[in-house]
Amino acid sequence: MQKTFSIVSSKDTLKFAVGIPYMARNGLSMALAQAPQLDNGHIWIAEADAKKISFKKPETAAPKAEETKPARPGETKITKQLQPKPVETKPVTPVVVKPKAPKAEIAGTREVRTIVIDPGHGGKDPGASGKRSQEKDIVLAVAKILKKNLADEGFNVKLTRNKDVFIELGQRANLANQWDGDLFISLHCNAIDATEERKKIIQGYQFYVLRAPENEEDKAIARRENAVATLYGEKNAKDELSPLEWFKLEARLEQYKQTSYLFTEKLLDSFEGGKIKKMNTGVGGAGFMVLVGAMMPAVLIELGFISNEEDEAYMMTKTGQQDLADRIAEAVSNYKDAVHSYRETLGRN
Ligand SMILES: [Zn+2]
Repeated sequence: MQKTFSIVSSKDTLKFAVGIPYMARNGLSMALAQAPQLDNGHIWIAEADAKKISFKKPETAAPKAEETKPARPGETKITKQLQPKPVETKPVTPVVVKPKAPKAEIAGTREVRTIVIDPGHGGKDPGASGKRSQEKDIVLAVAKILKKNLADEGFNVKLTRNKDVFIELGQRANLANQWDGDLFISLHCNAIDATEERKKIIQGYQFYVLRAPENEEDKAIARRENAVATLYGEKNAKDELSPLEWFKLEARLEQYKQTSYLFTEKLLDSFEGGKIKKMNTGVGGAGFMVLVGAMMPAVLIELGFISNEEDEAYMMTKTGQQDLADRIAEAVSNYKDAVHSYRETLGRN
């Protein structure tokens, strides 16, 4: 279960979620130095974040103040408040301990070192099926080559799976967070359920970021990729985003939107002129569950349509898989350089 809590005053409503390093102030998301943590019935937030929270003393306040007790000298606990509370009569400036030191820089603004590759599906979940192949096998093969390519270039590379096993969607982002990734790449093959005539026409690669979908087509692709969650009884499973997930998503979009799009630009460049064609503009967005929990720039790649014979044939060959991995690796490398240059303009290097 995701635990959320709010601090409400006459002017402000601050919303937090345990484990998520963002808060929403009156609906606007703000990054926190550190995710709030739940410990022994108390919510703890970082001192740096607590300093951002202060309520103005209301004019008509009653002279009764319910202050929280200091836990240790110089520290104040914030207790869980699930219901809106009466207006505080004093400015509240909670000061709390830091369970662990926050990172100096967040993924997307620091140097790009750790790449998390997520071969979609696996095990009992084959993903989409073509005439001669299954999505789970193609993406694993490409992922393994990509891992080698990137490791050769000096990246620290992690795979969410390196064999034919089933991993829940939510677990994939958890792994990426544990590994402290700088970029999350989820590999997939697209598919349509249509007449043979249409399957011949619909082909191409496309790159997806998390955002509110702009058309039914993108929505349908996300629903197909998310369907595994409900199909195999994943905890809290659903194939569309809940309000809380959109809340988390919007907060993260602020943080990682720019760099996720930067990576799709590099992908568009490196995929130019390949055997598989570009579908539409090449970039789409929707609520992909696998990307929701990742605390880093994250892109889902649909390599091509497994339901299209031409795309499938190319994705099945060693040459095709090597070529696709090479193009993604080139994009990662260019992305790394772009982030590095950006840092230089900020004088960070
Ligand atoms: Zn897929």
